[in-house]
Amino acid sequence: MTTVLAVANQKGGVAKTTTVASLGAALVGLGQKVLVVDLDPQGCLTFSLGHNPDRLDASVHEVLTGDLAAQEAVIDTEDGVALLPATIDLAGAEALLLMRPGREFALKRALAPLLDDYDTIIIDCPPSLGVLTLNGLTAAQSVLVPLQCETLAHRGVGQLLRTVTEVQQITNPDLVLLGALPTLYDARTTHSRDVLSDVSDRYNLPVLAPPIPRTVRFAEATASGATVLAGRKNKGAQAYRDLAENLAKHWAGSELATFSPGSA
Ligand code: ADP
Ligand code: MG
Repeated sequence: MTTVLAVANQKGGVAKTTTVASLGAALVGLGQKVLVVDLDPQGCLTFSLGHNPDRLDASVHEVLTGDLAAQEAVIDTEDGVALLPATIDLAGAEALLLMRPGREFALKRALAPLLDDYDTIIIDCPPSLGVLTLNGLTAAQSVLVPLQCETLAHRGVGQLLRTVTEVQQITNPDLVLLGALPTLYDARTTHSRDVLSDVSDRYNLPVLAPPIPRTVRFAEATASGATVLAGRKNKGAQAYRDLAENLAKHWAGSELATFSPGSA
């Protein structure tokens, strides 16, 4: 059975795209067949996996508007994940979709023929709660919320959780909120931990293990067109490998390992 995971937070810069690419590559490392979907018109996921959005003929835009089958737009990457790429055209998809019936279901419908081809599909949502993110949440079985552990990280979390609840009520009753994933985590200070326990208490949100440490390797990787997993051994790559194992075990039936900010 294919697992479809959405990675969402309307705040930019919280490591959504990094998480989709690195987790995808880590799941490939576990022997899975993985498809990642770029739902951000900026095309950062596409770019970070080594493809220039400006040079692509086909993208998720034509797929969402129904002009192209998803498999026609999927391309390979060096990390071994298959990619449904985005180009700036996607910025216009929002307006086009708004005029259509069932606009939240365009991605779900497009991915349906691919479900047998992959073990896991991971969707990189854009930094907004608009129709593209609603498509991501409607197509997914579960959602993961990357949370940068800094002051004001909680701003917007309430709104995101309300959106998840509305999606559960209206377009996707089976959607499971897995929890928050701490990103850009600095274990040396108590600040990251304080922020995390505040947010998880305030919203009663499980915190997934392990937290992803802040390391300069991520910026280097983005520039290289491959994920941190492709480079030298580093703690960021290891954290995503551990997260991949945690999720893979969970999808095979075990309990999700969580991180308790108070005691670490
Ligand atoms: P989003 O998709 O939520 O906007 P990105 O994944 O694009 O966020 O990450 C924003 C920036 O933070 C990027 O420059 C990325 O390289 C950097 N980044 C992501 N994760 C880490 C990390 N663990 N340590 C250091 N930098 C990171
Ligand atoms: Mg992004």
